[in-house]
Amino acid sequence: MKLTFTTMTNNIQKNLEGVQKIIESTSQKFQRNLLDVNLVAVSKKQPIERIHEMLKCGHRLYGENRVQEAQERWVDLRPQYPDLKLHLIGPLQTNKVKDAVALFDVIETLDRPKLVKALSREMQNQNKDLPCFVQVNIGAEEQKSGVLPEDLDDFLQLCREEQLNVIGLMCIPPLGEPPAMHFALMQKLAQRYDLKELSMGMSNDYDRAIPLGATYVRVGTALFGQRS
Ligand SMILES: *Cc1c(COP(=O)(O)O)cnc(C)c1O
Repeated sequence: MKLTFTTMTNNIQKNLEGVQKIIESTSQKFQRNLLDVNLVAVSKKQPIERIHEMLKCGHRLYGENRVQEAQERWVDLRPQYPDLKLHLIGPLQTNKVKDAVALFDVIETLDRPKLVKALSREMQNQNKDLPCFVQVNIGAEEQKSGVLPEDLDDFLQLCREEQLNVIGLMCIPPLGEPPAMHFALMQKLAQRYDLKELSMGMSNDYDRAIPLGATYVRVGTALFGQRS
């Protein structure tokens, strides 16, 4: 499969160029505006040297899945990169909401009413209005977090009542199934609820998420190599 070639090398710049090239050619082929397809470099569990290298390449959009790990590496780095954007892409415990609101620019993982209420309160406290995504459990998997498609209506209503700035939907499709039908359903849901952004597609399938409307692809190993 064409997409995996980039993971063969530890040269971060080559990896980045390879992924960008695939994003460009896929966008062109499916008539997506390249400016609408954002690359979130998923730096979780990556050695800090690789992140430094990626920063040196000029990349400024990163995703982390744990609040504490993100704090450990980004609190000190951030001030040197004023244009840096950090997305939280992992599950958020309510006792970490305060730290998350302080550190991240975007929260991609709204997945339950309790979190919506806690985030709403904390954003008021910190006088912030961070853009958020609702994570959709698109494969209705028992072990996976996220809002079921049939519960999305009520959930988005709650987000509105709590005045959260929901800009889109996010998903991680089931392992071992062709992702395209899940991406297609995500696209339908985003259209139905008039949400502009779609965060979907990872190292193995971002080329299939772009034709179905992804505006953020979250790519880790194809950019940084295997995680420790
Ligand atoms: C780890 C992770 C990714 C990146 O996965 P890769 O397969 O390394 O590209 C994307 N999204 C989420 C939510 C993740 O946890």
